[in-house]
Amino acid sequence: MSASPIGLFGGTFDPPHLGHVAAAKRCRDALGLERVLLVVANDPWQKSPTRTISPAKDRLAMVALAIEGERGLEVCDYEIARGGESYTIDTVEQLVAEGYRDPWIIVGSDLSMTMDSWERSSELRLRARLAVLSRPGSPLELPEQWRAVALESDELDISSSMIRARCQQGADVHQFLPPGVIRHLVEHDLYSGHQ
Ligand code: ATP
Ligand code: MG
Repeated sequence: MSASPIGLFGGTFDPPHLGHVAAAKRCRDALGLERVLLVVANDPWQKSPTRTISPAKDRLAMVALAIEGERGLEVCDYEIARGGESYTIDTVEQLVAEGYRDPWIIVGSDLSMTMDSWERSSELRLRARLAVLSRPGSPLELPEQWRAVALESDELDISSSMIRARCQQGADVHQFLPPGVIRHLVEHDLYSGHQ
């Protein structure tokens, strides 16, 4: 059982980039979290019908490489281990069962106003708190009825979709990615053939 609060930063991470690492560190420091889990979605159900997602094992490996050596940041495979569609409420319940009370769900401001569409959202907002990080292009707003805080960030204008698109065009992506992630996507030829 642990008393210290924990953060859950979920995503597709296809691929993980410097914006993700900065966001996780910002929440760790602002909220005083000993652990921030980067939870890799197995089947991101809101995205998977519209585009091909890289294999979960590649996304998991890249997140581990992206956060190597960063204090308190950890990769979490719970959603991959569960299989099927990924729901944050299931992961929150797993952590609550492990003894973590009121975990923080961390999202960028592009997602904050979608929270009420998440699976079992009314349970989710009872079980978890919400930290919303500013992200370029989306206003920093908090949904009603959630125990939520807004965190200004450095606003790195980086997204995985932009990186995938640039890879397809053969454009340079080095400035957006941790070195280990670059090595992995080159070795596994991840984004040259699909979007
Ligand atoms: P895609 O373009 O494929 O949607 P993404 O860059 O948005 O990729 P996701 O895996 O969808 O990455 O996002 C996981 C989480 O990280 C979400 O909460 C998202 O808001 C947040 N996030 C992603 N990029 C940033 C960024 N540059 N700054 C702050 N938060 C970010
Ligand atoms: Mg996204």
